[in-house]
Formats: sequence, C-alpha cells, structure tokens
Amino acid sequence: MLTVSRLGCARGGCQILHDINFRLEAGEVLAVLGTNGAGKSTLLATLSGELPPAEGEILLGGRALESWPADERARRLAVLPQSSSLAFAFSVEEVVLLGRLPHASGREADRRIAAEAMQAADIEHLRQRSYLTLSGGERQRVHLARVLAQIWDSSEPACLLLDEPTASLDLAHQRLILQQAQEIAQRGNAVLLVLHDLNLAARYADRLLLLDRGAVSALGSAWGVLEAERIKRVFGVEVQVVPHPQLDCPLIIA
Ligand code: ADP
Ligand code: MG
Repeated sequence: MLTVSRLGCARGGCQILHDINFRLEAGEVLAVLGTNGAGKSTLLATLSGELPPAEGEILLGGRALESWPADERARRLAVLPQSSSLAFAFSVEEVVLLGRLPHASGREADRRIAAEAMQAADIEHLRQRSYLTLSGGERQRVHLARVLAQIWDSSEPACLLLDEPTASLDLAHQRLILQQAQEIAQRGNAVLLVLHDLNLAARYADRLLLLDRGAVSALGSAWGVLEAERIKRVFGVEVQVVPHPQLDCPLIIA
C-alpha cells in the first residue's frame, strides 16, 4: 500500500531521516517507536506528502506519492498529526464532517459516516458541543473521528497515519482507539501509528518499526524488535521482557 525506499529527509538544513526502507501492507497495523526526536513525526510528515523527501521515494498504491491529485490522495491517505489545532467555534459534528470534504458523497451519506466515525471514537455524546469547550483528550478523539470519516467508506484500501493517537487519552480510550485501528486494518486498510507505550505496541500492532536517531534500528514482530538489549541501547532503560501471561506477545517490565 505504501512503499518507502531509501528515504532521506532534512529539516532546517539538518539531515533527520537516513535510508529508511519498509512497506506498509494492507491489513496491517504498524507501530513506529523511538525516543523523542528520533524522527517519528518527520517520517509521518514525509509519508503524508507534507514534507518532500530529500532522497528516495514513496509509493502509495504503486504510484509516486507526489503525483497523486490532492483530492484523490486524500481519499486514500488520512493523517492525524501529533497536534491539531482549530481556532473556530465549530461543533464537534462539523469538525468531523471536515473529513468528508475530499468526497462528493452527498450530505446524507456524509452525516451517516460522520455518525459512525463519532461512535468509533466515542464522541457521539459531544456531537453538538463546541470544539473549543472540549478537554484535550476529547479534542484528540474528535480529530481522530475526522480522519476516520475521511477513509471510512473508501472503495479502495486506504492508509491511516496516526501520530501519537493515544497521547492524551485515558486507559479505556487508548484501548478503544487501538482496537479501532485494528478493525480498520481488518477491513483491508493499512494503519501506521506512532506510540510510546511499548506494551500497547506489542499488544495491538502486527509489526513494529523502531527508529533510532533517524534510522531504522529494527523492524518486525514485537518478539523480534522488543529485546531487552535493544531497548537498553535505544531508550537507555533497563527492562525485563517476559511472555504476556494471557496474550501471545511480550510484556515489557521497566
Ligand atoms: P519525534 O517525533 O520522533 O519526537 P521529530 O520527527 O519531531 O521527532 O523530530 C526529529 C528531529 O528533527 C528532532 O531533533 C527535531 O528537533 C528536529 N526537527 C523537527 N522539526 C524541525 C524543523 N522544522 N527544523 C529543524 N529541525 C527540526
Ligand atoms: Mg513526534
């Protein structure tokens, strides 16, 4: 769905990402991990077409990312940035409906899809509220519903890029959002999300991509990537990695 080859990125004259190679496949959830400043958001900015690569190429559905017409690309690729701001007193439903702008699906279908996306992000009860009156975590869920609405009924498999989607969420909503990411992938889409919690990544992602100072340190299953030695080397933290008592994934004990 998304093929990244020899990708290099620079920002402010500094090389930030070096020689990144991976494929994001339809049907999978890929978690991107790494320390603050490792280049995770820069990677998302590049994959979303916001930041042109300095080197290498990105293919979306086999076609160069930069060659997609904006509207067509927006129907295939939705992005939740690390922080989204909105200064207008839109209602929650109006914000979610912004996700439908690239589509010409009609008011009725748009409202139905917005309602389903709001349900997925557990914000239906906030539908009429002004966005500006919401808490940080509620706002985060509204933006999430907006990007879900953008690809909800995509006729082609779509790609969802989420930068720290669980950052300001309580435990139950972290779970809900990651379960939604899995469901979206199960419908044939691809999801790439940045996470800091290694245990959430191990539990909910099919594969993990660990970035270290702008390069791929490891890519693969949670068992392969989350080795105690590597965690110590990349994050500088001593951990114990044990089998999860109930699930088929490792459990990281810091
Ligand atoms: P992460 O999301 O992994 O925490 P980022 O991708 O945001 O990291 O940043 C990677 C590195 O790039 C950091 O060292 C950051 O300071 C630097 N950086 C980010 N944006 C810019 C910019 N606009 N100009 C210069 N450096 C930047
Ligand atoms: Mg970031």
